[in-house]
Amino acid sequence: AQALKNQPPLRYGPKPGVAKLNANENPFGPSPAALKAISDAAVQGGAYYAYPAAMRLIDMIAERHGIEKTNISLSAGSSPILSYTALAASQKGNILGPDLFWDTTSKAPEKQGGHEIIRVANTPALDIDLDAIYNAIDGSICMVHICNPNNPTGKILDPKALKEFCIKASKKTLVLVDEAYNELTDDPSAHTMIPLVKAGHNIVVARTFSKIYGLAGMRVGYLIASEQNTEWVNQYGMGNYTLNQAGLAAAIASYNDDAFLTFSKDKILQGRAMVMDAVKANGLTAASSSTNFVFVNLGSGNAEHFRRAMAEKDILIRGIYRSYNNWSRVSMGTISDVQRYIDAIPEALEKMEK
Ligand code: PLP
Repeated sequence: AQALKNQPPLRYGPKPGVAKLNANENPFGPSPAALKAISDAAVQGGAYYAYPAAMRLIDMIAERHGIEKTNISLSAGSSPILSYTALAASQKGNILGPDLFWDTTSKAPEKQGGHEIIRVANTPALDIDLDAIYNAIDGSICMVHICNPNNPTGKILDPKALKEFCIKASKKTLVLVDEAYNELTDDPSAHTMIPLVKAGHNIVVARTFSKIYGLAGMRVGYLIASEQNTEWVNQYGMGNYTLNQAGLAAAIASYNDDAFLTFSKDKILQGRAMVMDAVKANGLTAASSSTNFVFVNLGSGNAEHFRRAMAEKDILIRGIYRSYNNWSRVSMGTISDVQRYIDAIPEALEKMEK
């Protein structure tokens, strides 16, 4: 108890002075409308389960996409529904995915001693190799996991190629498409696979309020799937009872707030263009990004050394992913934090090479 007493007051966000560019969050949220709704929801509804608010958000999502309420499952961020999908599917076999993707949730069955992730090499340009993945679907596979745009690469698949892949792959197995960054792409409706769910293909799509909406800390995400798949995934979680009033209020207030969404996307794209220019100015290259992060190629450099050099200056970025030792991921933050990262690149590169 004494140790707790001596702790500084809790801060809910990053420490002052720290540029937090390591988790693909979005500091431009919550929107002003979301902040007001969070406060109203806590006052009016903090003592009560959030069922009416969950129903309202489901209605809004159903209306936007022209689907039924029974095609939607909410969860506290998209991570739970992604994990539940992996857990449900893996009862029957292995999960198939690219070498490099946001695999945290599909690792859940591995951790429980269940089936494993079978990985297919990305192309030399770090794209997801759809043909190779399709050819790897055999009787042992229970689900294909595609993250588009992908994390940590930031790269996006050709929408026509992905649609064709999803249609033929879903005849053989369940296809999970994680669209966490969809709203940040140049053409969100061209890139979403939700129409294929509506057309009856065996596909589930995951979405989140954590990225363009700037609500990572408020924990709201959702899954769109056939009624049967939605029920099957829901068996693994408590669905609407895991949601909270404040998060739902924020999501409801932001969902159709086009002015805020345009502002949020503009700021993210502004930061991303600054990073891309700086990468070039420092003689480096980066994967093309359709997201709020950039995957920088450090050449012969080591991404963990680069991360440490940045951390010495209170700039937090990611280290090595799997065996991609020279690739370094940086998330967009406030414009001034992005500028701090840019200013620190030359020295961090020098330190890295020593
Ligand atoms: N999917 C992708 C591709 C992500 O990068 C992340 C988080 O960074 C998530 C899902 C999970 O986010 P959340 O649980 O906040 O929706």
